Amino acid sequence: MAEAEILLAAPRGFCAGVDRAIEIVERAIAKFGRPIYVRHEIVHNTYVVNDLKEKGAIFIEDLADVPPGATLVFSAHGVPKSVEREAEARGFNVFDATCPLVSKVHVEVAKLRKEGYEFIMIGHKGHPEVEGTMGQLDGGIHLVEEVADVQRIHPEQTEKLAVVTQTTLSVDDAAEISAAVKARFPNVREPKQQDICYATQNRQDAVKFLSPQVDLVIVVGSPTSSNSNRLREVARKLGTESYMIDSADELKPEWLEGKARIGLTAGASAPDILVRRVIERLRELGAVSVRTLDGIEETVKFPLPKGLKLGDAGEVNLSHLR
Ligand code: SF4
Repeated sequence: MAEAEILLAAPRGFCAGVDRAIEIVERAIAKFGRPIYVRHEIVHNTYVVNDLKEKGAIFIEDLADVPPGATLVFSAHGVPKSVEREAEARGFNVFDATCPLVSKVHVEVAKLRKEGYEFIMIGHKGHPEVEGTMGQLDGGIHLVEEVADVQRIHPEQTEKLAVVTQTTLSVDDAAEISAAVKARFPNVREPKQQDICYATQNRQDAVKFLSPQVDLVIVVGSPTSSNSNRLREVARKLGTESYMIDSADELKPEWLEGKARIGLTAGASAPDILVRRVIERLRELGAVSVRTLDGIEETVKFPLPKGLKLGDAGEVNLSHLR
């Protein structure tokens, strides 16, 4: 790679929901002392999780591993109602870091269920957000992962059917599956706006703009991160070679051979420090310049939960954690 240029996608990296979730854990540690328990990885990023472990967070999957009276944070992906109930029964001091855009889907599902709706959820089986959303109800929600699944589901009725989606899907794939749902169930109720969140949409749009301008797209993100995986797929679908890496160490020099323009982006859970380290590594390997492409400026910010806001009794001081 001689004298290559790096093109940075915009926007990239942290979204408002991830920012908020990390801040909730940091503030809980500052206010209540270590350790703070977190159900599931707060966001799907190895660096973020390891950093919070060092600061005093303990990540668990099973609430039985949390001692009585402890402070517990739910991850940004949300939790099923059963987990909420169990946490309450065990008497934990709970802070909910579920992204407000995921909570919005939970509220909608509960509201429509009361009106008698059944649901078709478009999402990835086993992803914690899907488990959380499906777990808002005791039944009546059918998961489809791909177009072929649409023929396999058997709702009890078709008069009141509604579609919900995971927030971090491929916008194009979700549209294709939605169209198949609509073809089989013409009366289906679709969300007023796609449940796919602004951050997922904007990062995919930025990769669509970036990909035709470069020879290679590098996505910074952890393997478990749904939205990061989708960014790599978007680039590949446009015919651009693309790889996802968790850190600069995973960058393979042979990917760069003969490449004059390297595109770089990051999933919504990947911190900027990882992008800066990848840029450093690319410079060591011969990149000579960095240019940020034009893109949407994001101004979304979500409020913190009660009890952790600045100005709450016992104001939280984070200076020793950063
Ligand atoms: S990717 Fe979207 S839904 Fe997920 S935390 Fe970020 S803003 Fe919320």
